[in-house]
Amino acid sequence: MSSDTRIPAAAANDPARAEACRASLQAGHATHPAGARKLTGKTTPDADVTNHTIDEHRITLVPFGQNPLVWTAQQILDHYQERLPDLRSCQVLVAEDRCAPQLRTELLRQAGQRGFGALLGPSIERLDQWLDRVRVVRQTILNRPAQELVLAEALRDSSPIYAQTDPWLLAEQLLTLFDELTRYDVPIDAEFDRFESALRNCYALGESHTLLQQEAGILHTLWHAWQEQLAADELLDPASAYRQQLRDSNIPDGSTLWLTGLTQLTPAEANWLRGLLEHDRARVVLHGSAGQRGYHPDAPLTDILDRLEVKVCKPASTAPDALADFVATLFEASDDNLKVRAQRFAGLHQQDSVGDRLSIVRADDPEQEGQAVALQIRRWLLAGLQPIALVTEDRRIARRVRALLEASAVQLDDPGGWALSTTSAAATLERWLETVEEEFAAGPLLDVLKSPFVSFSERNAHLGQVRRLEQDIILHENIARGLQRYRHHLEVRSERLPDWSEPTRQALHRMLNLLEHAASPLVVLLSGTHAAQDFLAALRTSLVELGAWQAFADDAAGLQLLEALEDLHQAGGHSRVQLDWPEFRDWLGRHLERTNFQPPTSASPVKLLTLEQTRLQHFAAVIIAGCSRDHLPGAPASQAFFNQRVRAELGLPTWSESAAAKLHHFCRVLHAAPRVLLTCHREQDGEPVSASPWLDLLDIFYLSAYGTTLEDGTLKALAGRPEVRPAPPDQAALPDQAQRPAPRVKASSQPQRWSAYTHQRLIDCPYRFFAADALNLKTQDEIREALSKSDYGSLVHRIVQAFSTKLPGLPGPWAGALTRADVAPASALLRRISAAVFEQAINDNFQARGWYRQWLRVLPDYLDWEIRRRTEWQPLSTELKVDKALSKHLRISGRIDRLDQRAGSTALLDYKTGHPPRPDEVLCGEAVQLPSYALLIDKPVAQLEYLEFARDKVNPTTCAAGEALDELLRQVAQRLTRLTDALHDEAPLPAWGDPRICAYCEFSGLCRREMWSHHELSND
Ligand code: SF4
Repeated sequence: MSSDTRIPAAAANDPARAEACRASLQAGHATHPAGARKLTGKTTPDADVTNHTIDEHRITLVPFGQNPLVWTAQQILDHYQERLPDLRSCQVLVAEDRCAPQLRTELLRQAGQRGFGALLGPSIERLDQWLDRVRVVRQTILNRPAQELVLAEALRDSSPIYAQTDPWLLAEQLLTLFDELTRYDVPIDAEFDRFESALRNCYALGESHTLLQQEAGILHTLWHAWQEQLAADELLDPASAYRQQLRDSNIPDGSTLWLTGLTQLTPAEANWLRGLLEHDRARVVLHGSAGQRGYHPDAPLTDILDRLEVKVCKPASTAPDALADFVATLFEASDDNLKVRAQRFAGLHQQDSVGDRLSIVRADDPEQEGQAVALQIRRWLLAGLQPIALVTEDRRIARRVRALLEASAVQLDDPGGWALSTTSAAATLERWLETVEEEFAAGPLLDVLKSPFVSFSERNAHLGQVRRLEQDIILHENIARGLQRYRHHLEVRSERLPDWSEPTRQALHRMLNLLEHAASPLVVLLSGTHAAQDFLAALRTSLVELGAWQAFADDAAGLQLLEALEDLHQAGGHSRVQLDWPEFRDWLGRHLERTNFQPPTSASPVKLLTLEQTRLQHFAAVIIAGCSRDHLPGAPASQAFFNQRVRAELGLPTWSESAAAKLHHFCRVLHAAPRVLLTCHREQDGEPVSASPWLDLLDIFYLSAYGTTLEDGTLKALAGRPEVRPAPPDQAALPDQAQRPAPRVKASSQPQRWSAYTHQRLIDCPYRFFAADALNLKTQDEIREALSKSDYGSLVHRIVQAFSTKLPGLPGPWAGALTRADVAPASALLRRISAAVFEQAINDNFQARGWYRQWLRVLPDYLDWEIRRRTEWQPLSTELKVDKALSKHLRISGRIDRLDQRAGSTALLDYKTGHPPRPDEVLCGEAVQLPSYALLIDKPVAQLEYLEFARDKVNPTTCAAGEALDELLRQVAQRLTRLTDALHDEAPLPAWGDPRICAYCEFSGLCRREMWSHHELSND
C-alpha cells in the first residue's frame, strides 16, 4: 500500500496534546503491550509507517441498499471454489449471530447455482464466541457481580478518599470506566504526578485544581488497588481476558477469517485484525459507506478503516438505488442547504419511489402509536409479508405492541429479551425479600402467596386459604403486618365466628408457620454484616422452604433466575467482603437488573429488535417505533469521571461517536426492507414528546423534494377506529335472550349448617342464597359492610362485652350493681377498656384513631343507657355461641351479642354500628337475624332489641315483644321448615330482583339482573 492511501489522523482538537496526554497516561505501564502501538484512528500522525500493507480488496464496503450476506457468501464461495463443497476451514465472524440462518441459506443458494446441493461448514459465530472457543483463558475471569465485590473490598481500604460517595455507586461507575480504559488501551500511569499532569492536559487546565486532584486521586488509587487485588488473587477482568484471547489467538494454517458487519473496533481488535489482513488471513465485509467523519452515518465505518490504516473509498457496487441516494443526499456534507439538496435529488429522481418505501405515523399518544404499529403488523401478515422487524429502543411501546399482538394471537419473537428483574419469578423473589424485611407486611406477603411459584397445598385449596387470610384477617381485622398479629386475630376471629371452620383456622396457622420457617434463615441476616455467600446460601434455603425454588426450576424465567443466583454465589467465592443487608439487596438487585431474560426461541415471523440487533438482516417489512428525541439519538449517560472532551482526548468512546453510530444504524435499517414505517407520539402523560430529529429530517427533505409528506394518514385514522382493535375469534352463536334465573341445587350441594346470614339471604332473594351458599361464593359474607364501619363495630362489640364479662388482657368487667352513683368509676372503667382495645387497633391502622374519638363521644350516652337498662334488665350472657338443629334438614348456628334477663324472661339484644332493620321489617318476617337467634335459645324470649351505636349517641329499638313476638317466631319457624323441605326437594331458587336488596347485592353480575330486568321492563 502506498503512503498516499493512508488516512490522515482523525483529528482530535489538538492531536499533539492528545498524543502527549495518552503517551503520558500510558508511560510506565508494562501490562498492556498493545498500548505501545500508536492508535492511528485517534492520534497517529500521517508520518506513521507500518511494515506491511493491506490490500484494499480484502475489505469490501457493501452499500446500505444491498445485502452484505449476499456479498459475503459470494466471496466465500469464490475463495473456496476449489474446495467446494467443503467449507469446514472457513470461519465467519459476524457482528450479530442472529443472521447466521440467513447466511447459511444464502451460501446454499449460491452454492446451488454453482452445482453444489449441500455444503460442509462453514462455522458462523461472533468474534467473542469464537475467541472463547479457540482460546480458553486459564485464569478465573470475574463476572460483574464478582468484580463489584472485589472492588468494594478495595474501596473499603481506601474510604478516606471518597468520603462523600456511596462506595457501591462508585464501584459501579469505576468498573465501567476501568473496563473502557482496558478495552481502549488507556492504562493509568504508576506515578501519580505524571498521571495528574496528563489529566490536566486533557482538561486543558493551566494549573492544578482541587477537583482535578480529587478525581485523579480517586482514579489513580483505585485503579492500582484494583489491579493489585486482581494480580494477588490471580484473577482477570473480562476486558483483560478478551485482550489476552485476541493476543494469543491462532488461526490454523490455510484458513481465513471472514469478518462481516462490524461497526466498531477497539484498538486491540484493530491491531489484531490489521495483523491478519496484512498477512492475508482475513477478509472484511462492511455494510455501509465510509469517508465522512463526525456526526454522519459513515462515521463508524470511517473509524474502522482509520484504525486499520486502510483507505477504501469505493463501494462494492454502484447499482442505482433511489432510497440510498435519498439518505446520502439528506446527510451529504456539502454547502448546499437542505432545500437545495432535496430539489437536486428530486431532479435526479423525478419519479418518486421513496414514498412507496417509507411512511410515517405521528400518533397523538403512546396508546395510539401502539395501536397503529400492531395494526400495520397485522395488515402486513395478512398480506403474506414476513419476516417483519419491529425495531425500537422504547420498551414501553414494545410492551404495548406485544400485548396488542398477543390479543390477535400473534406472538412477538424477542430474541434480545428483557431485564430478568421484570419477570414474575424475579418479582416473586423481590416481594419475598420485602416480606422478610417488613415484618410480613400484608402487601408483599399476599403477592408472594398468590404468586404461581408458591403453593402450600393443592393450588385451589391454597388460594382459598390465602383468600381467607386476606379477606378475613388482613382486610376485615385490618392487620397490616406481623405474624403474631395475624395469629392473634386469627384466634379472635375463630372465637367470634362459629361458622369460621376449624380446618380453615388450622390451615392458616400452618401457612403462617411455614412462612415463618421459610423466612427464618434470612431474618437472622437482617442485622450485622455477612459474607455474600452466606446471604445466598440462606436465600436458597429460604426459597426451598417456601417451595419457590422447585417452582422456579419449572419456569423459563425462574430457571434463569436460579442461574443468576448461582452466578452470584460463585461471585461471592472470590471475595471476603462483608455486606450488610441493604448492600446485599442492592448487589442482588443490580445483577437481576443487568441480567437479560431470554425467552425460549420463537418461530414468530415478527421480531422485536434494537437498531443494532438488525445488523446483517433483511426483512419483508420494518417498523421503527418510538422515534422520539429521547431514544433517537437519546442523551449522553451521566458519568462521574471525565467529561466528553477528556474522553475524546484519551481515545475513549464519546457521546458524539455513539450518536453517529446510532445514526448509522438508523440509516441502515431504512434500507433493510422494501417497506419501512416510522412511528412516534406527540405527547405522553400530558407532556409533549419531541420527535426524533432524524424522522423530522426525512419528512422535511421528502416534503422539499416532492411537495408532500411521508405521513400515512390512513393508517393513523384506521388505528383510531374501535373495530380494528384485536378481538379473539368468537364463533359461538349469540346467547338467548336473558331470562330471570331460577336454578335448582342438589340437596347434597346445599349448606348443611346455616348462619343467620344464610337465612336472611334466602329470604332476601333465593338466587342470592344460591350464589353465596350453594356456590359458596360468600367469602366476603361477614365483611360485606363497609370495612371501616365493620372494624369499628368489632371494636365497640369488644368494649361493651368487656364491660359486662371478663375478657383476657382487658380491664373490667364492672362488678355489682350499676347505678347513677357509679357514673364516674363506670365511665373510667369504660375508658380504660376502650384505651386498651383501641391501642392495638391504632397500632394496626391509622384510621382507628378517628374511630376512637368517635367512640369516646358515644361512650357517655352508652353508659347512660346501660345504667337505665340495668334498672330493668340484668346481663345474662354476652357473645353467646348458639347452635341448634331446627329440623332434620336444618341446623343453624350463630353468636348472640347479648342476652338479658328479668324475672324469668329473656331479652335478646344485638349491637349495630350500622343501621339496624326497622321494627316493621322484623315483624313482617323480612329481617330474620334476631328471630333466627331467638329460635336457637331454649328459653322463652320476651323481646328482640337492637342497640344502634350512632355517631354520638346510642339508639335502642325494641323490634318485637310479647305476643307479637311469639306469633312472629311461630311463623318464622314454620316458614323455615317449609323452605328447607322445598330446598331438600330441589325447588327452584329464583332471582327476585327486589331493587332494595339488589342495590347492595354483590351477585348482580352473576344473576345478570341488568339483562333480564331490562328485558322484562321492555316487555311490560
Ligand atoms: S342482584 Fe337482586 S336478583 Fe340478583 S341475586 Fe342479588 S338480590 Fe337477587
